[in-house]
Amino acid sequence: MVIFRHADDLSRALAPARKDGRKIGFVPTMGALHEGHLSLIRASAEGADATVVSIFVNPTQFNEASDLEKYPRPIESDIRLLLQAGADYLYLPDADDVYQSQVDRDFQLDLGYLDTIMEGAFRPGHFSGVAQVMHLLLDRIRPDLLFMGQKDFQQLAVVRKMMQAKGHRAKLVPCPTIREADGLAMSSRNRMLDPGIRKKASLIYHTLLYAKSMRHVAEIVELEQACIARLDQAPLRPEYFSIVEINTLQERETWTPGEKFIACTAVWADNIRLIDNMPL
Ligand code: AMP
Repeated sequence: MVIFRHADDLSRALAPARKDGRKIGFVPTMGALHEGHLSLIRASAEGADATVVSIFVNPTQFNEASDLEKYPRPIESDIRLLLQAGADYLYLPDADDVYQSQVDRDFQLDLGYLDTIMEGAFRPGHFSGVAQVMHLLLDRIRPDLLFMGQKDFQQLAVVRKMMQAKGHRAKLVPCPTIREADGLAMSSRNRMLDPGIRKKASLIYHTLLYAKSMRHVAEIVELEQACIARLDQAPLRPEYFSIVEINTLQERETWTPGEKFIACTAVWADNIRLIDNMPL
């Protein structure tokens, strides 16, 4: 695996592969890698001829300075995991290499409705930062395939919208959520949980399973409220539990026949914010 600090150097290294028509797969991450990330890298190693992974804790997508500061950055163990998982190139930039110009820093995209619901409503500016950094990364790396996790379901919709708006040609490949043995979705933030709180956090998964078992049985709003009540057990504090149509993320008053739904939730586990979702 070759490590690059500068996008220009990475771009030059990728040029021969691109010229030969080899498929470039890209897995953007913020590091503190776990099996969820590694599953994306393995999917890329299988589906593409060369796999680029980026590790960049993007400041513009953090809406709280303390969250950015305490985000884990275990770079040495990350590099070991990348080698095992089959990554070919690691892009490990600092912020100056990602945000090279004022134009890069000023990037704005109207995300409309997507920015007003769920994560958009509770994390102002978060998705603008995601759209911005993903535009810059795709612009420089120009992958054929982009591997991202369904764990961040709304983020997939945001990235899809940005790619259409900016004409990025990569194929977005959504990958399934990888979970711990007790059902908790893997997340870099899990390592910040105290052991006692970590144990209780599996309630998130079990509440999503409950929602799935009750689809079409309870009314949507009542089911959302019941799930909030189930999750509201100290040290857990649900921020939202929303059941939405799976393609548009639109709210529905009733289970419309022929449509598929997904439950999405954000829960504070003491001072750590966790998100998860489940198609119903
Ligand atoms: P992050 O480092 O949190 O920005 O995540 C980088 C990529 O890994 C994103 O596409 C995430 O959706 C994906 N990801 C994070 N956690 C998981 C998981 N438990 N299972 C599958 N993919 C995941």
